Amino acid sequence: MKPLIVANWKMNPQTMAEAKQIFDLIKKGVKNAKNTEVVICPPFVFLSIISNVVNPRQERGLTTIKLGAQDVFWENPPAGGGAFTGEISAKMLKNLGCEYVIIGHSERRKYFKETDETINKKLKSALENGLKAILCIDKKSQIKNALKGIARQQLKNLILAYEPIFAIGTGKACSIEKAREMNFLIRKTIKTKIKILYGGSVNSQNASDFVKKAKFHGLLIGKASLEPKEFVKIIETV
Ligand code: PEP
Repeated sequence: MKPLIVANWKMNPQTMAEAKQIFDLIKKGVKNAKNTEVVICPPFVFLSIISNVVNPRQERGLTTIKLGAQDVFWENPPAGGGAFTGEISAKMLKNLGCEYVIIGHSERRKYFKETDETINKKLKSALENGLKAILCIDKKSQIKNALKGIARQQLKNLILAYEPIFAIGTGKACSIEKAREMNFLIRKTIKTKIKILYGGSVNSQNASDFVKKAKFHGLLIGKASLEPKEFVKIIETV
């Protein structure tokens, strides 16, 4: 299985020109990297410009770059007639060329009070509209609630990201032993073959251990994904 490396740019950078520059450097850097799937999740306002430059051509054996969003709303018109000021639907993302969407990131749970219930609704909307959903969790118990009512056959488009809160943006990654243990526990809980990623202070020094020793299928990367050289190094090491 190809490692999946997801870049979460969060609320960065502040200009379109910078976003384009970071993306171009990553694209150039991974040109010859082998067999990895890279997903770039910029802020909504940069999705459009980046969707014009991602390379949809899948070259066998080489790295492919796909587009992802950092969040999605659960309603899709005609329900509600689109009267949800400020929100972005799964259909909009799909029509823009997004293949992935991050759902339930700990920052959204913390600052925007997202609950397992709203995360569940977002997941349903994303999966029903053909997006691949990356569900972030830091506890095993969040899985069951988030997946309530989701049919087993839809889980093929679900990816789980284990992101221990203490490791996010702190520079203190989870130990490989603990991460590996959680990876196995999550797999046991979910009982379906899906990709499980690790996220939290990943850098080029620790990245390959999370994949090779802790046996994750890939990584979700915040800070280091905005540093093209470091991000490309991570991709090369895994
Ligand atoms: C994240 O926010 O998903 C994340 C993993 O951040 P960082 O890599 O900066 O810890």
